[in-house]
Formats: sequence, structure tokens, C-alpha cells
Amino acid sequence: PFDVLVIGGGPAGASAAIYAARKGIRTGIAAERFGGQVLDTMGIENFVGTGYTEGPKLAAQLESHVREYDVDIMNLQVAEELIPAEREGGLHEVTLANGASLKARTLILSTGARWRHINVPGEDEYRNKGVAYCPHCDGPFYKGKRVAVIGGGNSGVEAAIDLAGIVGHVTLIEYEADLRADAVLQRKLASLPNVKIITSAMTTEVRGDGDKVVGLTYKDRNHGTAHEVDLEGVFVQIGLVPNTEWLKGAVALTPYGEIEVDDRGETSQPGIFAAGDATTTPYKQIVVAMGAGSTAALSAFDYLIRLPVE
Ligand code: FAD
Repeated sequence: PFDVLVIGGGPAGASAAIYAARKGIRTGIAAERFGGQVLDTMGIENFVGTGYTEGPKLAAQLESHVREYDVDIMNLQVAEELIPAEREGGLHEVTLANGASLKARTLILSTGARWRHINVPGEDEYRNKGVAYCPHCDGPFYKGKRVAVIGGGNSGVEAAIDLAGIVGHVTLIEYEADLRADAVLQRKLASLPNVKIITSAMTTEVRGDGDKVVGLTYKDRNHGTAHEVDLEGVFVQIGLVPNTEWLKGAVALTPYGEIEVDDRGETSQPGIFAAGDATTTPYKQIVVAMGAGSTAALSAFDYLIRLPVE
């Protein structure tokens, strides 16, 4: 069995595996896709200490850094079920889609999250070419330009307020008749001069010129009419879904599916830790996920050295 088994190979999982392996303990990492969301990212300007890098390059560096250590890397493996140890200090079991079962004294769950898509023509085609999901990451790329934010929940309205301070103009598009964000956020948004709010609007297309986004089309849901907005960026903010469906019943999750962790990264089950976008961490960022991964690995090590001698 492993001393530490990490599930998920994004920034959180890679960081956890490196920190665990450096303690000289038996470490494994199983990931559906090593690199995680970083693989889907183009320019990265907030990886502190590195002014600019690109997702595929950083993902390759994560993997080669892990490979410098004696870590059992199981790439292209999907975890399907977690059976926590029956007694404290016992072995946890993770079943993979290929039928294999892995056992470990401690686990670090770092299966990340995925942005919900609007699923309209142009969204996939122009991803990273005007279609964005993370205002903290991509906002500054649109300095002085026109953007839309799709979604009027808290994250959409927060994104619109954030972007309004950077870009030239923001159009916020909400499907329902009213925004769902907290009243205080809505008041703040309404006070901004360069924001237009459009409700009862269904985005039907992200338009591009073959190279980059040039606008979007929405349908007015009250009148059935189609409207076009010319702009350079579209931020989709209709929800971030944690990849934790496979953990239901095994560890405590919030109603949104986030793994509940304390400030040491421990879940509701002793010996099972979690890190990164899959957890209740309030900010979903690469450096935050890496910090959480190292925290979880150090906590797992702390847990292991306190287990009674057998
Ligand atoms: P993830 O990166 O999501 O990795 C999850 C890992 O778990 C993957 O290896 C995945 O394959 C694996 N996995 C999932 N389910 C299973 C399963 N059942 N079994 C086995 N493995 C599984 N952040 C920044 O700081 N700066 C940026 O510029 C930036 N730009 C972004 C641009 C885009 C388009 C996106 C989508 C995100 C961006 N982010 C950015 C956010 C950043 O990518 C995430 O915060 C970060 O990757 C989270 O790391 P993680 O390790 O928690 O999860």
C-alpha cells in the first residue's frame, strides 16, 4: 500500500506528490489527465515569480518535476469509488475505472473542478481567443476593451464589478428576469458607469472572425427578438462544478459538491485530505491550489508519524 496516494494531477496534486515524496514515504498519484485545467489555459501571468508562461508548458513542468522523485505516476486513470478505512490508521481504498483497486494509509483528493459551459456555437472554437472563464486570470488581457459577462449570480456580478475597473465596457447578460447575486453586489454593479445589464436574455452564439471573438448574439426571451453586441471578450460565469461526484457518501461535501476541508486540508474522514479547486477553498487559482497541495501533504505526513507503532 501507499503511505500517501494523491488522486488528481493538477497543480494541487502535483504539489502534494512532490511534498510527500520529499519525506521519503511511498507516494503514488493517479490522474485522469495530468496537468488538469492548466492544460486548457493559454497565457498565465499570475504564476508568481514567472511573469508569463503558458498552460501546456507549465503542465509539462509539473509532470517532469514530479518525475524527479520516486513517485508512482498513474496517468489516464479515473477514480470511481472511495472506501474510507474502517478504523483509524487503517487502509483507504480507491477503485479505478480500469478495475484496479489502490490502497493507502492516507489520501489526498485533488480532482479539481470544471467551468460550466453555455454550449452555444463559438464557445469552444474561441476559447482562449476571447472566451474566458476566470476574471482574475484573464481580466487584464482585456484592458480598455469591451467584454460581456454571462451569468448574474454572485460570481457573474463579482466578475462584472472586477472587470469594470479594468476593461472599457462590460455587458452583463442574465437568462432570468432578475439577477440572483446578493443585493449589496447588485447595488455596487448598478453604480458603475461602464456597465450595462441585460436580463431575460439567452446567449445564442459567440461570434468570431475566424481568429478571435468579435461579438455575441442573444435572444430577448420576452419578445423572441435577436440582438447583437460587438465586443472582444466573453466571460462565462455560470458555475464551477467540483469533480467530486465519485466521493458522495465517502467524505463530507457542501451542497455545491465541494469537499469540506479545515485549514490543514483534512476532510471529514481521518487520514483523508483534500486540496485545490475540488474543496471549499474560496479562491480557485494555480498558486492557491499549489499551496493547498503542499499543506495537505504535510498534514498527511503529520498524521502518519502519529499513527501507533504496529
Ligand atoms: P485541476 O487543475 O482541475 O486538476 C484536477 C486533476 O484531477 C486533473 O489531473 C484531472 O484529470 C484529475 N481528475 C478529475 N477527476 C478525476 C477522477 N475521478 N479520477 C482521477 N483523476 C481525476 N489559474 C491561475 O492561477 N491563473 C490563470 O491564468 C488561470 N487561467 C485559467 C484558464 C482557464 C481556461 C481555466 C479553466 C482555469 C484557469 N485557472 C487559472 C484556474 C486554475 O487552472 C485552477 O485553479 C487550478 O488548475 C486548480 O488546480 P487543481 O489541482 O485543484 O485542479
